[in-house]
Amino acid sequence: MIPEKIKAAFLVGQMDMEVRTIPVPEMPPGGALIKVHSTGLCGSDINRIRYTTSDEARVLGHEMTGEIVMIDPNVTDYKVGDHVAVGHVHIPCMHCDYCRHGSPAMCRQFKEVRVDPGGYAEYVALTHDHLAHSVIKIPEGVSDAAATFIDPLGCCLRAVYKSKVRPFDKVVVVGNGIMGQLFVMLLNQMQVEVIAVDISEYRLQKAKGFGAAHILKSDNGKLEEEILKITEGKGVDTVFLTFLNQASLDNALAYVRDGGNLCVFAPPVHELELKMDYFSFFRRELHMFSSYSSHIDEIIDTMQWITSKKVDVEKLITGTSDLDNLLDTVKNLTEEDFKIIVNP
Ligand SMILES: [Zn+2]
Ligand SMILES: [Zn+2]
Repeated sequence: MIPEKIKAAFLVGQMDMEVRTIPVPEMPPGGALIKVHSTGLCGSDINRIRYTTSDEARVLGHEMTGEIVMIDPNVTDYKVGDHVAVGHVHIPCMHCDYCRHGSPAMCRQFKEVRVDPGGYAEYVALTHDHLAHSVIKIPEGVSDAAATFIDPLGCCLRAVYKSKVRPFDKVVVVGNGIMGQLFVMLLNQMQVEVIAVDISEYRLQKAKGFGAAHILKSDNGKLEEEILKITEGKGVDTVFLTFLNQASLDNALAYVRDGGNLCVFAPPVHELELKMDYFSFFRRELHMFSSYSSHIDEIIDTMQWITSKKVDVEKLITGTSDLDNLLDTVKNLTEEDFKIIVNP
């Protein structure tokens, strides 16, 4: 039985949320209605909850999985009862110049398509485009909670593909929060030698457990020296910056090898304009790129990493929350939290 009214957690201001009762979202033509089982609490949601300057009430949550409870009879790829994961709440058009050149997240249509109302709700309506380009069935043996990782792990996989890292490369992963730990797990499985760098000893020890060959405290004053020692004086092939500020950028430029890669995987913290020695950047033939979001192809690959448990994402789930406790959960996050799963 689909209820007429459902609960949804609205962000209504900075560190301010309200659980409201709203009409069940309407299923669009060609779309489906899902009962949400698990939605990952994403770092981007945490930042919006902490720092939003908007007081427009909205429902966040995009790393969602659930069960199809209603579907347009013309849709044949899915049926009622299927467990599905939503790779993206935004959908690219798949045929504009951005899409055709491999940048679907830059598609001008991308952010115009959303789900109604958002993953922190009991039910969510998906459009026909979601079913065609973003939703995948959750394979047997994969939990709904694990399947929520197709979004964050898909973003890491895209960055790894863009970096063209090869087996036996040496790389640094800066920042060992949830995204950093996913990089460590993934790169370790790809036979890449990972040096994890973080300020938190707790997170470094976790990274070691997940396969980092070396762990280094970012504030020990000897980062460059130690990384050069590990790499016989050359520096690392690639740096994944999941934490970006002037200091982490300066450090990365010092320990990346000549001709190496810098992947900017996070927005800068506090200061938007960072400085760099462009003469050295030019002469050293460094390659710097950003990676944001992921593509349906990467999402399909990601599900295989999850299903095979080669990247055992469940090990990163450190807590659960319901809608009523979501704000308190965000308030009480510590360095020991990686992924919180919200069960509406
Ligand atoms: Zn996310
Ligand atoms: Zn497009």
